[in-house]
Amino acid sequence: MEIQREERERLLKELLAGRFPDAAGRFGPFGGRYVPETLMAAVTRLEEGVRTTLRSPEFERQLAAELRDWVGRPTALTHAPELGRRWGAEVYLKREDLAHTGAHKINNAIGQALLAKQLGAKRIVAETGAGQHGVASAAACARVGLPCTVYMGAVDVARQAPNVDRMRRLGATVVAVESGDQTLRAAIDEAIRDWVSDPEGTYYLIGSAIGPHPYPYLVRELQAVIGREARAQLLERGGLPDAVFACVGGGSNAIGLFHAFLGDRDVRLIGVEAGGRGTALGDHSATLSAGRPGVLHGNYSMLLYDDDGLIHETHSVSAGLDYPGVGPEHAFLKAIGRVDYVTASDDEALAALDECCEAEGILPALESSHALAGAKRWAKENPGARILVGLSGRGDKDMPILAQYPSRKENRDVA
Ligand SMILES: *Cc1c(COP(=O)(O)O)cnc(C)c1O
Repeated sequence: MEIQREERERLLKELLAGRFPDAAGRFGPFGGRYVPETLMAAVTRLEEGVRTTLRSPEFERQLAAELRDWVGRPTALTHAPELGRRWGAEVYLKREDLAHTGAHKINNAIGQALLAKQLGAKRIVAETGAGQHGVASAAACARVGLPCTVYMGAVDVARQAPNVDRMRRLGATVVAVESGDQTLRAAIDEAIRDWVSDPEGTYYLIGSAIGPHPYPYLVRELQAVIGREARAQLLERGGLPDAVFACVGGGSNAIGLFHAFLGDRDVRLIGVEAGGRGTALGDHSATLSAGRPGVLHGNYSMLLYDDDGLIHETHSVSAGLDYPGVGPEHAFLKAIGRVDYVTASDDEALAALDECCEAEGILPALESSHALAGAKRWAKENPGARILVGLSGRGDKDMPILAQYPSRKENRDVA
């Protein structure tokens, strides 16, 4: 989507002034609310609830207390001197891997669970792909005392057995979805169907900055704590970065990290999508880099679909990036040129994961390793830069997948 230069400048100013999403829930042409008539009342009620509750002193106090005492915030900002030496840069890592349940997803889950409680919901439904959002939702629902049903594609249930056990132990009901592609997209469809059947008593706890308005806004507000903390921590330690990197699946950790820096015009913001194993449709999940505009799961954004308009299956070594859509605010930030989006391949992410382990003693999630790979490439082209990388989660969950890819150390041990 081409937007003229002067128009881009005007839209960025409006964004910085807080005018997006607008009253229709749009970020420029993107976003909005494409839901069946049966859900319109629920979505409108949620928007009203978000408006009155999110900024109320009581809710802010509750959320701040949970983030501090239960999630473990603020998360650390870690200087990474050995990665810096190797890359020719000064590297800092924002450590969402240290948050409760192992990733940034908990910031959103506990925020929405508290909101649901305030709005009088009786039960919560959520979707999950690899299980990370399901685990975060199950934990948050246990914490606030609401029953939780998690929809998960049957294929994912089979390949993510440990996370299914974690969700069940945390008290959630896990429903294996046998329809559609039997992965994340089908799980979202099913969660929405459940919500439609009881929009009064059920709250849909969405896992990324996607879905109909007000979800992309709500999730961004709940994740923006990442960037607020990181920006303040960097200012205490010598100043703003030259560039900030985050991986982009649905886009929640990236929008959360980027938002505090949008007004810092000298700070480059770079989202890294999953380049997978190649550039053909079906071999990657690079929605912004290779997609086209369209409607999926209630909003208008960039998507991966074929020439017949059918949503296409995606591929990434990291399950959390394996989604054919992306949050509408990212589509907007790309269109106005404030954020650049690049890709990192499966192989680059795997190498970056090993390098981070070796150099800093930190096992990052495969998703986060895409951000590291993108940062490394940029650092080589921009020597001496000060770089912030969002480490969205820890890699312990990825051990079964990593077993298929021996580390360089194991290779050396064999040789
Ligand atoms: C789910 C997940 C992601 C991708 O989701 P976003 O909404 O794009 O942030 C990234 N990193 C980790 C560790 C995840 O669990």
